[in-house]
Amino acid sequence: MSDTDLYALDVDDPTALKRMLSDGFEDWSKQAASTGFCSRPVRLFGQASTFDRRSGQHLHTFDSRDLPDSVLYIRCGNRRSSRCPSCSHEYQGDMWHLLSAGVSGGDKGVPESVSTHPLVFLTLTAPSFGTVHSSTRPGAQPRPCTVNSAPGQCGHGRPRRCTEHHDVDDARVGQALCRDCYDYEGQTIWQWHCPELWRRYTIRLRRLVAAHLGMSEKASRDLLRVQFAKVGEYQKRGAIHLHALVRLDGAPTDEEPFPSPAVDVPASWLAERCLEAARDVEIDAAPVDAYDSARVLRFGRQVDARPVQRHTHEDGDVSPEMVAAYLAKYATKSAGDVATEGTPNRHLKQLRETCLELCGRALLDEGFSSPYALLGKWADALGFRGHFASKSRQFSTTLGTLRDARRKYHRDREQLETRGDLATVDDSLDAVEHTVVINEFRFVGQGWLTPGDAELARSAADAAREWKDARRAAPRPHEKGKNHGEALLHR
Ligand SMILES: [Zn+2]
Ligand SMILES: [Zn+2]
Ligand SMILES: [Zn+2]
Repeated sequence: MSDTDLYALDVDDPTALKRMLSDGFEDWSKQAASTGFCSRPVRLFGQASTFDRRSGQHLHTFDSRDLPDSVLYIRCGNRRSSRCPSCSHEYQGDMWHLLSAGVSGGDKGVPESVSTHPLVFLTLTAPSFGTVHSSTRPGAQPRPCTVNSAPGQCGHGRPRRCTEHHDVDDARVGQALCRDCYDYEGQTIWQWHCPELWRRYTIRLRRLVAAHLGMSEKASRDLLRVQFAKVGEYQKRGAIHLHALVRLDGAPTDEEPFPSPAVDVPASWLAERCLEAARDVEIDAAPVDAYDSARVLRFGRQVDARPVQRHTHEDGDVSPEMVAAYLAKYATKSAGDVATEGTPNRHLKQLRETCLELCGRALLDEGFSSPYALLGKWADALGFRGHFASKSRQFSTTLGTLRDARRKYHRDREQLETRGDLATVDDSLDAVEHTVVINEFRFVGQGWLTPGDAELARSAADAAREWKDARRAAPRPHEKGKNHGEALLHR
């Protein structure tokens, strides 16, 4: 696929046309491609000098003034799809590789033996804070919206029950039946404490695993480790659900970072412990001010913990690849993405306002010593201040390792191409290893220089993504399952 194929010719901004007709278009286009057609690339000005590591000899200098706009463009790296589709797409791909390696092994430095460790796919939900309109799952038998609610009206004269059938895209889904009855404060405070609830959950689970095996927690650390990878997903009602992969390993060492657990327990046993821990954990949340009362916070009752069967699954089962794809997809969603979808959402707006209001009340009452003093800062995240994606150190490889490997691959390829000496690849790779690069760049801004450039990058990004997805979706016989999973991501 050539560069010019990437630009759809419906780009009608005059600055786009000017760019396409300019002398430096080909060079600009190469740069844009090297950012992956990022939406808001960082612009850097300066030089990079390459030296031979052994002799200290100066080999060459790269100067941003030699480029079309006298600047070097670098990817923004934003993982949110609403901010930068290209960088988000790349992040999603990395997440998939990371999760998939942690599930099946045999990739990215994680041994294939991890695929024999007990593994559970866990979902922890938020409790109910009031009745909301709900949809029928795609493909399921249509069912009335709020089937379990009591009949009649609430104290505000609104019906307690809705008997309509809503599609998932219906703007009413996730909205409270009565916004005066809905416990906006309760949900906001739960969401604020959710990261702590998760932290206590992981501690409780480790203790339960040890206790059920008749060991002290300390003794169990020589034999077992519970490893996690977790992502947060916003429900339509604005509450966070946590999805996690929970894997049982042995105690890692430098030589063997992913050992098998020293006890033989099935994944169903681990799933039982996951459910038990979810029932156990709670937090006593402090009141917001003198007019408020303390709350006991817990996870919702709809906890789900399923063993992931990696070697025996049949069509229709949840496969390891699907689990990895599902989690990777949610890792790029955020409150901003949820709130901007479709029409202006009054329910989410009210949750945001509740964050600001509770923060104000907390500050008036106790000032900055209040546990809710910073709630306003997280209003856009609807009170959730945790990481949207996190993992324990030994779950898999890291995003940093994946990025470094990709950067090195591109740098090596670029240097080799510059030399035009692909016949002696081995020697050249050796030469690349023996150079050192001194970067002297300064930040001059972010984004493309003109609306036309931005439009060109956007149309090229769309085309490049479609092309990549089509290539990923085409199964290669030796790794059919993996490609299938990665293709699932980008639907
Ligand atoms: Zn970007
Ligand atoms: Zn309804
Ligand atoms: Zn009401």
